[in-house]
Amino acid sequence: MNNLLEVQNLTKSFGGVVANSDISFTIEEGLIVGLIGPNGAGKSTLFNMVSAVFPPTAGVIKYKGQRIDHLPSFKICELGISRTFQNLQIFKNMTVLENVMVGHHSRTKSGMISAALRLPRSRKEEQIIYNAAMEQIKFVGLEDVCDVNAGSLPLGKLRLLELARALATEPQLLLLDEIAAGLNHQETKEMSDLIKQIRDKGISVFVVEHDMDLVMGICDKIIVLDQGVKIAEGTPKEIQNNEKVITAYLGE
Ligand code: ADP
Ligand code: MG
Repeated sequence: MNNLLEVQNLTKSFGGVVANSDISFTIEEGLIVGLIGPNGAGKSTLFNMVSAVFPPTAGVIKYKGQRIDHLPSFKICELGISRTFQNLQIFKNMTVLENVMVGHHSRTKSGMISAALRLPRSRKEEQIIYNAAMEQIKFVGLEDVCDVNAGSLPLGKLRLLELARALATEPQLLLLDEIAAGLNHQETKEMSDLIKQIRDKGISVFVVEHDMDLVMGICDKIIVLDQGVKIAEGTPKEIQNNEKVITAYLGE
């Protein structure tokens, strides 16, 4: 199996707080990899560095063998890495379709801005983006509400919308930050099924998730952080029986 993402000795400090300390791991092609740990463990910080929200304090991030730390976020997106956010980043006064089409534009530097401003584009370009957006809207099951304003949708559908938008950039590595937070049992089950289908399309998925049933049910491999440090890595079974992991969660 080829390594898609390689994280080497990654460290991030915010003033005196070391949010990530000397973290190393790899994500192989075609896997669902879980990132778990108590609140404040540094999970979102790690995602923020991989998706270039901010650069690392130290360490190296490689994607397909190429260093990507210090690249701007639109470049990361162009290379094939896409993400969703723990706090939803939806434009509430735009329709479902428009929200997903904006996502597609984030592949180019000016795209997100021109899309948000609704600047004219060539009809051909518009059609390609429309088709890609509709494909993802259908995939997540939102076609019935594609012309509805996102602001009027319940949380479960907003999380599906975030997923569709992240997929519209046609990533090879998808980062999902608490995509199932606030979902009910049935919605969580549907989300797990979608994540497995995404993996089966050949996209690697890196998931931060609190719902242990979901994590243990879908992940091929799990990385555990506690207070900024990687304390364990292994299969769901190995992680469930790991003393360090059990202690970290008991202390929460
Ligand atoms: P998790 O996602 O695992 O709950 P985070 O990565 O959000 O944890 O946070 C890890 C630590 O880093 C926390 O102590 C948090 O307060 C701090 N932190 C995260 N982001 C920032 C930031 N942008 N500025 C300052 N401190 C931050
Ligand atoms: Mg977080």
